[in-house]
Amino acid sequence: MDPETLMGRCLELARRAASTAAPNPLVGAVLARGERVLAEGWHRAAGLPHAEVECLRAFGGDRVPEDAVLVVNLEPCAHHGRTPPCADLLIARGVRRAVVAHADPFARVAGRGIDRMRQAGIEVVLGVREAEARWTNRRFLTSVSQERPYIVLKWARSADGFLDRHPRHERGVQRISAPATDVLVHRWRSEEQAVLVGSRTVVNDDPALTVRHVSGRQPWRVVLDRTGVAPAASKVFDGSAPTLLFTGELRRDVTVEQVLVPPDGDPLEMVLGTLHEKGVRSLLVEGGAELLGHFLHRGRWDEARVITGAHAFGAGTRAPLPPVPPVRSFASAADRIDLHVNGTTPEDTWCW
Ligand SMILES: [Zn+2]
Repeated sequence: MDPETLMGRCLELARRAASTAAPNPLVGAVLARGERVLAEGWHRAAGLPHAEVECLRAFGGDRVPEDAVLVVNLEPCAHHGRTPPCADLLIARGVRRAVVAHADPFARVAGRGIDRMRQAGIEVVLGVREAEARWTNRRFLTSVSQERPYIVLKWARSADGFLDRHPRHERGVQRISAPATDVLVHRWRSEEQAVLVGSRTVVNDDPALTVRHVSGRQPWRVVLDRTGVAPAASKVFDGSAPTLLFTGELRRDVTVEQVLVPPDGDPLEMVLGTLHEKGVRSLLVEGGAELLGHFLHRGRWDEARVITGAHAFGAGTRAPLPPVPPVRSFASAADRIDLHVNGTTPEDTWCW
């Protein structure tokens, strides 16, 4: 099998851990010989074995055949973390040929894994399906290189471009998208490590921000409310998920973890800095208009996912407009989803 096909399989395996691997990268590994795949593995979660270990374990205890090739989307590690270095394992198991999509920018690896393998006489081919592999690990790569979470903005707008219908008669989420799209949004939540909303959204919509329609990991709920307007009885303060409140003044009527934003502090940068320190690699921003606008105006975003529903509101709060056209559009029941990317445009062979 050619290296491109094997790397495609490898990335497929890597993505199986989309909602569990973080803060670690998504990594898959395939051991093949001629037209046969001998073994496969992927990294399931932090603390569990790396993809190469899983793959070689699946193969069994013997040395690998001399004409076999080991394909892995990220450079094998060279440092002693929770497990011994994978580069050493490959050498010890007699791997003669390796195919790697790209090097690991993580400071403790950064080319050392590949160097070590080459010094041991392993032929290493680099750069196979590299753009797709980088897109697969965009959260990890952005976090390591820019020291902030990867930022995904998400909003739903009516067919005529409104976020919110006016006047409002009750507190609660106004339905814009089809129920099938809710399932997708919950999957999106489970794939990021934190979900952020502003105080207006808590006051108006009272969202729970939990993962309910899919099985997956619950991200941090993050609320930015400098003036303390979010009612203590709001769902985000119900203690059902880890929650972080950025506030101008300490609240005694809520029991969630709080971060004080000083009057001259930049709340957005404080949110990003605090989450980075907590090891959060990615953030889903779910509104409202003002908060989304801040991220867009500063160019502090990586991806925007805009859901357009089938129904018109006629009036209300105008939905933001991303500054770049969508790179792809998808249909979800009666809704349309546009994917906007701030930076390198992914090829159209994959999406999230
Ligand atoms: Zn490793």
